[in-house]
Amino acid sequence: MFENLSVKTDFKNQIETAFKCGRLSHALIFEGSSEETRFKTALELAKAVLCKSELKPCGVCSSCLKAESGNHPDIHIISKAADSSMIKIDAVREIRNKALLLPNESTKSVFIIFEAQLMNANAQNALLKIFEEPQSHVLFILTCPSKASLLETVISRATSYSIGEEVASEKNEKTELIREKANALLNCYISSNELSFMKMTAEFQKDKQLFLEVLKEMLPVIRDGIVFQSGSKELLSDFPETAKALASALTAKKSIELYKELSALADEAERSANHNLTLTRLSSKLYDIKNR
Ligand SMILES: [Zn+2]
Repeated sequence: MFENLSVKTDFKNQIETAFKCGRLSHALIFEGSSEETRFKTALELAKAVLCKSELKPCGVCSSCLKAESGNHPDIHIISKAADSSMIKIDAVREIRNKALLLPNESTKSVFIIFEAQLMNANAQNALLKIFEEPQSHVLFILTCPSKASLLETVISRATSYSIGEEVASEKNEKTELIREKANALLNCYISSNELSFMKMTAEFQKDKQLFLEVLKEMLPVIRDGIVFQSGSKELLSDFPETAKALASALTAKKSIELYKELSALADEAERSANHNLTLTRLSSKLYDIKNR
């Protein structure tokens, strides 16, 4: 298994042993490596589980061929919706209906939840309900860059495996995107009105994780603004120009209020299942400070 995939030897051994002894847990989390490797690894295991030959996965039986071509009736791939950056709760609810049915032509139904971190808390809770009534014919494989992005309750009901190190380039690209968005939002806050700011934040409705990370990335820039106002030149954030612009747009008192308000909103968004409530308050709270 996993012959042509660059996965950790540890991972390969653990999965193969569990598979051969029939001790695979009914819910697996594959974390680390690249998005592509995570997907191929999950599919490879699904193939092995459904393969009709002795040496699994054989790659040539009808089941393996269907899996290869993406047409296996007992492999269900759940991923983000075409019109959204998230896995929708409806897609998760649909799993429940499908999981109750017996497989079409195999002994198992395999559900691959591709990039499970794209489920918001509600969707993950819906998945938990399915985990709580395990059907012996069902196997769930969740993939994600890091299981830290999943709810503790989901992690505790599954067996986690690290495929490999999270790929650095993917990480860096994401970090870069978050930093740019944080900087753009702060510049919009300084120079523009509440409506433009709200328009910019609309994309976060569908992506709590992105929202949280952007909020957290704004904080060091605001902190630098406060430092600059106090006369220090020791700016630590990546956007000193934005920090200086903030420092001239707001009084020192307002800068501190802005920092406190944004920290509180970030905490609130993190704890709440519905981050959109926080999102709708974000612009009004921040502009209250600016316009006071
Ligand atoms: Zn086969």
